[in-house]
Amino acid sequence: MKSYHTLRDIRNDLQLGNLTCQQLVKQYLRNIEDQRHLNAFIEVYEDEALARAKEIDQRLKENQAGKLAGLVFGIKDLLCLDKHQVSGGSKILKNFESQFSATAIEALLKEDAIVIGRQNCDEFGMGSSNENSAYGPVKNTADPDKVPGGSSGGSAVAVQADMCLVSLGTDTGGSVRQPAAFCGIVGLKPTYSRISRWGLLAYASSFDTIGIFSRSIEDNALVLEIMAGADGKDGTASKTPVPSYSSLSQDKETFKIAYLPEAIETDALQPEIKEALQHKLEELREAGHTVEPVSFPMLDYVLPTYYILTTAEASANLSRYDGAHFGHRSPQVSDLESLYKNSRTEGFGEEVRRRILLGTFVLSASYYDAYYTKAQKVRRLIQEETQKILSEYDFIVIPTTPTTAFKLGEHTKNPLEMYMADLFTVQASVTGLPAISLPIGKDTENMPIGIQIMTNAFDEAKLFAFSKKLINHR
Ligand code: GLN
Repeated sequence: MKSYHTLRDIRNDLQLGNLTCQQLVKQYLRNIEDQRHLNAFIEVYEDEALARAKEIDQRLKENQAGKLAGLVFGIKDLLCLDKHQVSGGSKILKNFESQFSATAIEALLKEDAIVIGRQNCDEFGMGSSNENSAYGPVKNTADPDKVPGGSSGGSAVAVQADMCLVSLGTDTGGSVRQPAAFCGIVGLKPTYSRISRWGLLAYASSFDTIGIFSRSIEDNALVLEIMAGADGKDGTASKTPVPSYSSLSQDKETFKIAYLPEAIETDALQPEIKEALQHKLEELREAGHTVEPVSFPMLDYVLPTYYILTTAEASANLSRYDGAHFGHRSPQVSDLESLYKNSRTEGFGEEVRRRILLGTFVLSASYYDAYYTKAQKVRRLIQEETQKILSEYDFIVIPTTPTTAFKLGEHTKNPLEMYMADLFTVQASVTGLPAISLPIGKDTENMPIGIQIMTNAFDEAKLFAFSKKLINHR
């Protein structure tokens, strides 16, 4: 059976009678089975997905099907689905079953999308290579000796390897955009608060955003359109009206684009990525867009700010896993303190423990002002400086990642090296702005290269319209 690039193609074939949802789901299940070695899924909802496909085939026949009939998607193991396990890629939540669904997932199911399984990820979203999962690392289809990126590695590979059409990931500091770049697919982090966070296991609540992996811009836009919007269950979810993202239309033909010289001139950037980016910028210039360098001297401060604030928030959020309320409880318990200590030590992996310790330190009475308060102030400055650029330009274009996908194990011994993978993605996270990663080529080892486009808050419609132009210019 053919491999589908867009829901539109699938719908076409469904309509022509060349395809049924049941055949489609079977095909994806086969692809999952044949590529078990990539370790993209923690759990596959085989029987359920097939039963639902049958129902939707019937609904299609009766002309009663929703907008997403024919869309098969997977969910990162940080998103809750009613009566299904969710573990955050962690031992501490092994066998934990959710009693409700994330609002975003519910919205897709209501439009007749089919959920096919739960995808591997870095523990509680902390990582850039998917090597911090209690379920083992995920491998990149382009080269199984290399990482898929993280933390939503399984979700990215599932789309890359044709195991589903779309995946839902979460992006706190780049966890959708970075793996999308490493796997050669489209990855969106919408504006913070655009999609309800209800049913997303919290990592750093002022950063956490549900994001979308897809093969095409149009599917990404459609899925966002359906998931976005206010939600009584999440007070921080924005009430800003949801436009028709999927129309991909914009009045403007040409745009003003800023690129950050600091992000292009840095030694950290792999030369082939620099070349691909410069080539793209030249193409955009030739197509009539205004493309100009705008200096952003604060770039070096974004990553430290991100890691101070997110570890602080994580240390608070993860205190709920205490051996008493959820998941793992140590059998070696003599009193309350040993219950907490042993359950958490046994349940959490090394990176999560490191972040809890770091976060507890930056929030401690003696260091709170020196680290946490200072980082909050710097966050505000980064927001202001970025806003300033976006008040004059439609988009900021930077690489998604400093390098293409690296070898498994290459950075596991040195956390700082690993954190560097987020160098360019954290700006949109610290500012809450929407950003998308698009595939723009490959390096000499045939590994995908991603370009990242950032824009003003709630301007996703413009972001999609421009993305479509940018990819078409290839
Ligand atoms: N790699 C980053 C981190 O480890 C981003 C993670 C994410 O976006 N969930 O924090």
